[in-house]
Amino acid sequence: MNRSQGHPTATEVEQFSRALDGRVCSRLSADYETRRRALVWNGRPPECFPSLIVEARSAPDVVVAVEFARHHKLVVGVRGTGHSYSSIFMCDAGLLIDLSRMNTLTVDRSEHRIVVEAGATSGEVAAALEREGLAFPVGHGAPVGIGGFLLGGGLGINCAAWGGMSTFNILAADIVTADGAERHASPTENPDLFWAMRGGGPGLPFIVTRFHLHCYDQPGAITSNTYLLRFAVLPHLAAALDAIAPTLDRRLQVMLAVISAPLELASHCAPEDHGRIAALTAIAFAHDAVEARTLQAPLAELPILSDCLVRVQDQATTFAGILGQGETLLVSKRFRTDNVLCDQLGVAVDIIMRHLPTAPSPASLSLIVWRGQHDHPDAAYSVSGRYFVSTYAQWGSAEDDPVNGAWLKHFYDEMAAIATGAYVNEFDLEARLDDIGRCYSTSALERLRTLRQRHDPDAIFYNPFARSHH
Ligand SMILES: Cc1cc2nc3c(=O)[nH]c(=O)nc-3n(C[C@H](O)[C@H](O)[C@H](O)COP(=O)(O)OP(=O)(O)OC[C@H]3O[C@@H](n4cnc5c(N)ncnc54)[C@H](O)[C@@H]3O)c2cc1C
Repeated sequence: MNRSQGHPTATEVEQFSRALDGRVCSRLSADYETRRRALVWNGRPPECFPSLIVEARSAPDVVVAVEFARHHKLVVGVRGTGHSYSSIFMCDAGLLIDLSRMNTLTVDRSEHRIVVEAGATSGEVAAALEREGLAFPVGHGAPVGIGGFLLGGGLGINCAAWGGMSTFNILAADIVTADGAERHASPTENPDLFWAMRGGGPGLPFIVTRFHLHCYDQPGAITSNTYLLRFAVLPHLAAALDAIAPTLDRRLQVMLAVISAPLELASHCAPEDHGRIAALTAIAFAHDAVEARTLQAPLAELPILSDCLVRVQDQATTFAGILGQGETLLVSKRFRTDNVLCDQLGVAVDIIMRHLPTAPSPASLSLIVWRGQHDHPDAAYSVSGRYFVSTYAQWGSAEDDPVNGAWLKHFYDEMAAIATGAYVNEFDLEARLDDIGRCYSTSALERLRTLRQRHDPDAIFYNPFARSHH
């Protein structure tokens, strides 16, 4: 059950506001609608209207907000930086705590540790660490919040080598629980909540205010190789990649994007290319340039790459450079995504070949990320698959929402047949709330449900899965 029957008076809201470092925006505030829309990244604010939007500036602000919500029987939603593709944080009629102004960071170089407030972005974390010669597997876009990213699992930069998923680099966290108490969660303190934060995703029975993260020495050399090929070649390219994948070093990040051909390559496309190309990018995270070339070699030597339209090799890059690259592909105003984890790359590519050319918007794209085989520690993140296969529908106007949503749903209904799991942070939760079980093992899903009942018996925190009994 989700609550939110409360109606605090204007005076009570005024008193609440004075108790905070941050500010409160109510539905009576002149800028309410502007602020509500600005919370959402995907360009499609849902018909959800929190009674109060609380911009928290500190952990004590979060405590005051949870206590106020308890007192007035308001459900509590939590927003990091709002990059959820499905705006899953948006509660209706409750109190939404926006953490995006909580973004301080403290780096401990000798301990390889960073303590970061939960509203910080991937770009802020990467930049703070880069100054100290350190690195963390942050998300692939600078504005992506570290909070929601880590809590859902985190398919971060070089994460195949650094933890498997980024969430496995959480050492501990400072949290606020449903009773309004500030607590610490680690393998030895509140271990069940620590278990849940490593991949539990939306609707957790606590709010993280600060993460304590393990970080790594910055690689001595990061090099990027890019190969652009015709779309029609994709099945052969995927087969060649799949054949050598077991020999690849995990420090090579391999991503295959299927995108619209840039203008300068359009004339190289035949009708069977449908105006698209396959862009294979391999980024090596190595000690030095020589080792980087060794990591790149198995892929660079693939015979099929002699058919490239464009081939750029041994480009030195940085975390800042990689963060910038991710942002160039998402160019429209409205977004929706879905994904599977799978082992059958050939079948996944066959499905892409049939569905991507029928996309209502040519800007929509598919992405294949090689993950390799991982034995993850016991945590809420409990799905696996050698490949992550996602599609980003993107388009320009509201009237095209239904046709793009239906296309993506149909595409990934077919993909679901080969799924070994799905990644919750890029799962189409607008269409698939009832399929949320695909994002966790059966036992992890059950344990999350039990933890929610035990630690939030009054259902203070907004649980988007309440209606699917998760
Ligand atoms: C441009 C773009 C690039 C992306 N790149 C990647 C990528 O490379 N790898 C990847 O894995 N994912 C990526 N993502 C997906 C990303 O991981 C999710 O969108 C993630 O939710 C973003 O975090 P956020 O803090 O903005 O979350 P929000 O959208 O603010 O919230 C998402 C969920 O997390 C909960 N939540 C957030 N913070 C807290 C907290 N402190 N305590 C408790 N619950 C909290 C919210 O309640 C909500 O349920 C990308 C998304 C975008 C839009």
